[in-house]
Amino acid sequence: MSAGRGGARRLFFALWPSPQDCAALVRGFAAALAGAGGRRVPAHNLHLTLEFLGSVPDTALPELAAIGAAAVLPAESVVLDRLEWWRRAAVLVAAAGATPPGLAAFAANLRRSLSERGFRVDSRAFRPHVTLVRDVRAAPAAVAAAPVEWPVEALALVESVPEPGGSRYVPLARWQRAPGA
Ligand code: ATP
Ligand code: MG
Repeated sequence: MSAGRGGARRLFFALWPSPQDCAALVRGFAAALAGAGGRRVPAHNLHLTLEFLGSVPDTALPELAAIGAAAVLPAESVVLDRLEWWRRAAVLVAAAGATPPGLAAFAANLRRSLSERGFRVDSRAFRPHVTLVRDVRAAPAAVAAAPVEWPVEALALVESVPEPGGSRYVPLARWQRAPGA
């Protein structure tokens, strides 16, 4: 692994979808994506953020890896059934109308583990969502979205590398849910 800039990296924990799950998401929200304008998030960048950490020193990576390895993913799916425009962030997101209880507990445990070890965590409530389009400055037309069921299968610790065309995400570590767990 290369060293981060100035010995630090911009990191977040996310649920990382399989290529099949990404394809299902793009299919389910195709009508919304077609008319949205803005900047589409490339399929390989689609993710569901669990906790955004900001800039973290490289020396903390082993501790983050241990937290990720200890996390037990719930045997659940999250249903992304709403298209929402978040005006302030200027993004169009696929959101879950209901947060599955196992995922809520998982996110809360992860946040607690991180916070107890001194990492910066978000103070806002966890709202499962996948950002589909950025730079959406006007409310999109209301369109139907087919609910997409996304199995909670893989946790990733991801580096966000700023680039002129938009950030590039590099999963540094990934943990799959144990089969049958
Ligand atoms: P860019 O900021 O270059 O437009 P980006 O938002 O995709 O691209 P990051 O800002 O590095 O890249 O964010 C990485 C992930 O963390 C995204 O899912 C983003 O929505 C989320 N995120 C970023 N900042 C915060 C924050 N302050 N609180 C919660 N989540 C955040
Ligand atoms: Mg950002």
